[in-house]
Amino acid sequence: MDFSFTEEQDMLRDSVIKLMAKHAPPESLRKWDRERVYPEVLYQAWADAGLLRLPFPEKVGGLGGGALDLAIVVYELSRVSTDVGMAFGGSIFCGLNVLRKGTDEQRARWLPPLLEGKIKFAIGISEPDAGSDVGAIRTTAVRDGDDYIVNGQKLWTTGAGLKNSTICAYVKTDTKVHYRKGMTHILIDNTMPGVELRKLDMLGRRSVGTYECFFKDVRVPLDRVIGGEGGGWDCLMGGLQFERAVSSAGNCGGAQAVFDLAKKYAMERVQFGQPIGSFQAIGHMLADMETEIEAGKMLTWRANWLVSQRKDALKEITHAKLFTSEMYARHANMGVQIMGGYGLNQEFDMERYFRDSRSTTIAAGTSQTQRNLLANLMGLKSSK
Ligand SMILES: Cc1cc2nc3c(=O)[nH]c(=O)nc-3n(C[C@H](O)[C@H](O)[C@H](O)COP(=O)(O)OP(=O)(O)OC[C@H]3O[C@@H](n4cnc5c(N)ncnc54)[C@H](O)[C@@H]3O)c2cc1C
Repeated sequence: MDFSFTEEQDMLRDSVIKLMAKHAPPESLRKWDRERVYPEVLYQAWADAGLLRLPFPEKVGGLGGGALDLAIVVYELSRVSTDVGMAFGGSIFCGLNVLRKGTDEQRARWLPPLLEGKIKFAIGISEPDAGSDVGAIRTTAVRDGDDYIVNGQKLWTTGAGLKNSTICAYVKTDTKVHYRKGMTHILIDNTMPGVELRKLDMLGRRSVGTYECFFKDVRVPLDRVIGGEGGGWDCLMGGLQFERAVSSAGNCGGAQAVFDLAKKYAMERVQFGQPIGSFQAIGHMLADMETEIEAGKMLTWRANWLVSQRKDALKEITHAKLFTSEMYARHANMGVQIMGGYGLNQEFDMERYFRDSRSTTIAAGTSQTQRNLLANLMGLKSSK
């Protein structure tokens, strides 16, 4: 059993570390978070460095990397900020759906601008009355000649309002059949007539932003349906599994950053004449954090390695998503505790990780949904 990365993967990791140090220093991250603006220059720097090409095959202009390579990148981006990296993840996950389910014409149309950083994708599944219960979505698309007319609303759509963003929306094209058959995946530019967006005031992830999207008689050409009419459920499930596998790496990166900040502080901060890290209460917290991060990484690298090998990995992905999301939120809380008042001050960054970490056990499927899924895989009867 070989636990090491390849030489290429080590080089990839080093290049991402250097890129982020150059383009996303801590003072810029604080500013973007405070002012709630997205750094388009950073996104373009990823595109210029070829990071958006990484998981796509060479025949469509990609670099032919696998899920594990992508997980390494997301880990390093998230060590710097789990917020700014979300625009990267969202674009990639949706782009991979176009690769898997799109026609040759659709791949030729959408993938080159995506890989060059000229467009971004945002994932539009959730709605006010459809969160964990995805099948309850109500947004509809009705055929009208060569177009669909889309009406409805999406909620919590990460990055929907960013420049040149296309919302990969899941809509009902047939409300009379089971949702697995009546759901369709359609691409809606955020500038199309009838689309209105509102950036929501959220606890964390304030730079990339979480949006509410309203669709009023939006005219969308038929050739923007990916996976065929009624093929939305397959796209959604395939995309979600990939998102959960890779975002586990983001959770590990965030937890690692929190641990590094807390450990440094514990070694430097002196109270009662000695560094606080020498108090058993603090040392044990850090020991637990380090142990759990190693466990989380093992789950994550294994899940992504299985995905790279095109093996069935539903159980392993779910283990990784459940464990690492709860770990990151828990560790950020411990990090604040270790840093005392400084942990809550913007100049010391821990509070940003704390705020950004809180959504990990909710977004891309809640912890309860992951546990339901695992119980079902065990053959236990659980709720939906
Ligand atoms: C920061 C952030 C970014 C997001 N980005 C996106 C995005 O880009 N695109 C997108 O489409 N969505 C996005 N989401 C939405 C996310 O996927 C949903 O919030 C999530 O699926 C939960 O839905 P909900 O919030 O409606 O909660 P609900 O489904 O209403 O759940 C509320 C509570 O009930 C529990 N619950 C529900 N059903 C069950 C059950 N059967 N058994 C046990 N417990 C249950 C849940 O676990 C939760 O604790 C984002 C969310 C957040 C917070």
